[in-house]
Amino acid sequence: MKGKLNIIDDHTSKVPALNVVSAEENHTSQEFFGRAAVITLGCAKNQVDSEVMLGVLRNNGFDIVSEVEEADLAVINTCGFLESAVTESIDCILEVGELKKEGRLRKLIVAGCAVERYREELQKALPEVDEFITTNDLMQIGDVATDKIQNLLKEAGRPYFLYDDKTPRQLSGVNYSAYVKIAEGCNRPCTFCIIPKIRGAMRSRSIESVVQEVNMLAEQGVKEVNLLAQDLTSYGRDRKGESLSMLLEQLDARGGVNWIRLLYAYPIGIDQQLLEIISSAKHICEYLDLPLQHVSEQLLKNMKRPLGRYAPRAITEYIRTIAPAIHLRTTFIVGFPGESETDIDELEKFVLEGHFGSVGVFTYSAEEGTPAALMPGQIPEQEKQQRRERIMLAQQKVNEKRLAEMLGTDIEVLIEGVHPETDLLLSGRSRFQAPEVDGTIIINDLAEEIENVSAGTIGTVEITDLAGYDLIGTLKYTDN
Ligand code: SF4
Repeated sequence: MKGKLNIIDDHTSKVPALNVVSAEENHTSQEFFGRAAVITLGCAKNQVDSEVMLGVLRNNGFDIVSEVEEADLAVINTCGFLESAVTESIDCILEVGELKKEGRLRKLIVAGCAVERYREELQKALPEVDEFITTNDLMQIGDVATDKIQNLLKEAGRPYFLYDDKTPRQLSGVNYSAYVKIAEGCNRPCTFCIIPKIRGAMRSRSIESVVQEVNMLAEQGVKEVNLLAQDLTSYGRDRKGESLSMLLEQLDARGGVNWIRLLYAYPIGIDQQLLEIISSAKHICEYLDLPLQHVSEQLLKNMKRPLGRYAPRAITEYIRTIAPAIHLRTTFIVGFPGESETDIDELEKFVLEGHFGSVGVFTYSAEEGTPAALMPGQIPEQEKQQRRERIMLAQQKVNEKRLAEMLGTDIEVLIEGVHPETDLLLSGRSRFQAPEVDGTIIINDLAEEIENVSAGTIGTVEITDLAGYDLIGTLKYTDN
């Protein structure tokens, strides 16, 4: 059995599942408590939390295994953002619970956002679970797992956990690419989102802590780091004198990795200085993931999303003026309560204008505890799906044109290994293709020419053809 990692962008966007559980590694403690597996559900931020737990478990005397069937201890890191994600989490718990009934598993711990949101209900409904851990108490995992639960620091029930460069963390995915969370929590008021209630107020790590972590990742062979936060552009506001621009300058100068990419940039906070750094700093990818959610003014008001100079059209045009080379990715929600035919026409028109290199479109999901769930004018599911397809189709037309413009150009590519569908080809990504959410580059050289090219190599590819959302090319040279 493998855990699923469904990346959720800005907590509204879902992309194809990736099977990842944990990297295998031996414990570093004097004592040996057994073998542990961590199953991650939900977004990339959850993946980071799982990696922190893996590090803590390893330091507390567990060997990490990648198959839950081989484990003595299973930790399921749940997602509680969407109702469907909570259902998926429960299904996973029930499935792993069977292993416990069969006597193959000694202990089952459930952590993450679903626990934060539905702890009491889950405790009542799932007696097979030994312990529940909230997102604030990740560092307890060692104590909980080793039956040494001690006095825990809790600040009046408020979320407070924030990992740093000293926190043990073991990467669970590929060894050339990693996510780094630079802040936790969110102070924004989006009416469709439960995250501020679950994750608490925004709190940023120090610049030094992030630089140190990225340095350590570089020493381990990581070439690409994707920076994460619920609201990336607010980074540093809770720390006197620190900002995202300052962090990027330091990472560019001292981070040690080849590529640093920004995911989930809330429109407010994007300014000239930030755009200029993204455009000119050597190691910062010319890429910005800017979730806009919609373009209709009335819907944006109902969503409590930015308007005025940070409204979708205004901020998009501003970015184009200051930094035309930045590859913009965005996400939209369709089927928000009260969305009319005119609203969806307006969104389709906006997409067809071709501002974005990639777009994710997600159907609205009424989440318990959010203001939007109680709004009138909820849209039937089938209608939401049709609207989604319509906006996706609009972006497909834009993509065909944008990708065709790249034919004949040379592009820097991070090679990810053999292509998932055939070992005769290599697969890679460019600086403007984030993992899991954007297209890829297929390298179709002869097998003998690519057999010595390993995953994590950075090379230059000449683009020769197109394949849907992907580009096809031939490898000209590599960095090794
Ligand atoms: S409330 Fe915060 S976390 Fe939720 S969608 Fe808005 S910006 Fe993102």
